[in-house]
Amino acid sequence: MAATVKRDYYEILGVARSATQEELKKAYRKLALQYHPDRNSNDPDAEEKFKEATEAYEVLSDPKKREAYDRFGHQGVQGGFSGGFNPETFAEFSDIFGDFSDFFEGLFGGQRRQRRPGGAMRGEDLRYDLELTLEEVAQGVEKKIDVPRHETCETCTGTGCAPGSSPTTCGACNGFGQVRFSQGFFSVSRPCPRCGGRGSTIDSPCNACSGAGRVLRRKKLSVKIPAGAETGLRLKVTGEGERGFRGGPPGDLYIFITVKPHELFERDGDDIVCEVPVSITQSALGAEIEVPTLFGKAKMKIPAGTQTHKMFRLRGKGLPNIRQHGQGDQFVRVVVETPTRLTSRQKELLEEFAHISGEQHNPISQGFFDKVKDMFGG
Ligand SMILES: [Zn+2]
Ligand SMILES: [Zn+2]
Repeated sequence: MAATVKRDYYEILGVARSATQEELKKAYRKLALQYHPDRNSNDPDAEEKFKEATEAYEVLSDPKKREAYDRFGHQGVQGGFSGGFNPETFAEFSDIFGDFSDFFEGLFGGQRRQRRPGGAMRGEDLRYDLELTLEEVAQGVEKKIDVPRHETCETCTGTGCAPGSSPTTCGACNGFGQVRFSQGFFSVSRPCPRCGGRGSTIDSPCNACSGAGRVLRRKKLSVKIPAGAETGLRLKVTGEGERGFRGGPPGDLYIFITVKPHELFERDGDDIVCEVPVSITQSALGAEIEVPTLFGKAKMKIPAGTQTHKMFRLRGKGLPNIRQHGQGDQFVRVVVETPTRLTSRQKELLEEFAHISGEQHNPISQGFFDKVKDMFGG
């Protein structure tokens, strides 16, 4: 419908110009139920009709506004309608709208709440646990995952009814899905116990889904994992959770990341720590050694006289920061390995080495034996 041409309010409600308050109310109730957004989700036309009817009722049910409208038409009530509805007027329709203040706040601006009296329900959120290798974390990766989730049943298109049949309006709540209880001075609405708040019951359920309206399927998805992801990271994939019920929106999918332990690398935030064994001759004489990194092999120089457990830093060979704050480093801890199972020739050479070393200055031993001397006075 064109937004610029406004239809006559009486015509919208389908009542005579002489209609009484009671007739107006009856006409509006009928339209409100028919075009209720919760019963017509994803139908913008129904929502427009609903708003139109609501506006017409809001004006005609107010004697002052009605008089102005009767005399001057739409001009007469310009500014009188701003989408801000009179709560008193709508309290009488609370059986349709539930908590009407929330309802109108959602419909005419602001965020809709989850409550959907028509029985439509948002699908549940899903959790998917995903394991990554440190190599995948280093590069960032696109993972194909297979998510078991409930999809809308194709046989009944989600209604839960056998083909050719339709739900029966629930007699306990007359289709409202809510029943009112009186508690002292208060009157409260509760979901109808007979139909579970759906407003209808299914007499012949769909065979494919046993009336649930959804069937379990495996959904293939491709998800981008950012470089630098770490254990405990939760990625939200909007709208990929369980499908909604009876036209409700889908839930979200949450991917919980676990990074598998690595055989060579230990992670420390964005940094990587790795131990590399070197021989006594490499550590004594200095050497260029090959070091594994997440990005392939790297060459690293160790100077002559390198002690065991000395740490070296390879800049930029760590993990990318997940917030794109640069890149971590790799720390290489050198472990000097004492040779085992010496040949007789090697033994001979080492014995000669020991013999000629004599009182050679070794700073760590020196400090140690000085302390022992102080302790025992020898
Ligand atoms: Zn079905
Ligand atoms: Zn019911």
